[in-house]
Amino acid sequence: MKRAFYPGSFDPLTLGHLDILRQALAAFDEVVVGIGVHPGKQPMFEFGERAAMIREALAADGAAAGGVVDVVAFDGLVVEAAGEAGAVALVRGLRDGTDLDYEMQMAGMNGAMRPDIATLFFPASPATRPITATLVRQIARMGGDVARFVPENVARAIRLKLG
Ligand code: ADP
Repeated sequence: MKRAFYPGSFDPLTLGHLDILRQALAAFDEVVVGIGVHPGKQPMFEFGERAAMIREALAADGAAAGGVVDVVAFDGLVVEAAGEAGAVALVRGLRDGTDLDYEMQMAGMNGAMRPDIATLFFPASPATRPITATLVRQIARMGGDVARFVPENVARAIRLKLG
């Protein structure tokens, strides 16, 4: 059984994250989603809300449902969290060259710290490539409709949160 760790902020989960998760589940038997929580950084959704939204979106997406065995919080080194989760690999998504430059640095340094944990990149699918959680939050706060960028349950949660 090969298990991967997919870390991110997921504030909130987008269709881009779900796309990477589906690709990871095609390559690994099990995926643990790690939600990075940074003390001092004010998120739109608390950890518990983000975890519940991920579980709900997966349940609605039959294809991705079974393989995600856990959703955990971490606030330290991502490689340590991945090791604790029993993962042999870190999964990251690549949208563009900016992601690549940053991700290559992280993969290099994470690999130096934990050579036993590989980093695997999956390319963003064309339809979800432009989506970022940061812009989803900005658009939502300005009253825009984010329904085409996030799973249905997340769009509902955003509408409830922002009234
Ligand atoms: P964001 O960059 O949208 O704020 P995160 O920090 O939660 O999201 O990112 C977690 C991981 O998901 C990163 O590897 C990031 O590159 C990837 N990711 C985020 N959005 C997309 C997308 N639209 N397509 C592919 N990968 C994505």
